[in-house]
Amino acid sequence: MKLSFLLSFLFLTACVQNDPPPPDEASAEQKELVDYYLQDIQQKINILNMNVNVTKLPVVVTEDLSENAAGECFRGSHIRIRKSTLQSLMAYEGNEGQIWRLFAHEIGHCYFGRSHYDKTIVAPTGFQFKTLEKSNFFGKVEYTPYSSRRYSGTVMSENYATYTQSESVRNFYLKELAGWVDGRDYREFVAEDGIDLIRDSAN
Ligand SMILES: [Zn+2]
Repeated sequence: MKLSFLLSFLFLTACVQNDPPPPDEASAEQKELVDYYLQDIQQKINILNMNVNVTKLPVVVTEDLSENAAGECFRGSHIRIRKSTLQSLMAYEGNEGQIWRLFAHEIGHCYFGRSHYDKTIVAPTGFQFKTLEKSNFFGKVEYTPYSSRRYSGTVMSENYATYTQSESVRNFYLKELAGWVDGRDYREFVAEDGIDLIRDSAN
């Protein structure tokens, strides 16, 4: 009895400490970027007919995060994105997929209640996946074909080295967050419009 009282007290204390959000240090350009990604993800969610509103919680750009965290979700309160990480990712347009992934990852924690886990989708022997990758953002958007034998199956892995610029793969990741697809089964992956299986050119 005493123990459970103590535990719930500690839990509440922790919540109060994390609330309210710190001041938003976002530059005008970073504010625009935050809105862009929230709207992009919300648009995809609407098209998929998921009943989730990812604009409910404030997204705060700050340096006030746990050590080494690029983003952090305070459930039911707000999302924090590290200002210096965002700054360095914004320096190169090829990082667009990593920024999308960072936002989708925190949305996975805050709106889908997901924890960290890793999943990989591997094409069957002799085959590769082919997707169309976005090569630009903020205005002029171009798409180039890309092929790979392996794709990350989720945005909830802690490894940001794997990411995608493909709109189709992003839709797949949102379905994975909702639990609609497994994130390991290549057949579910290629069922997505814009993700195809092609013969491995090395064979
Ligand atoms: Zn995380």
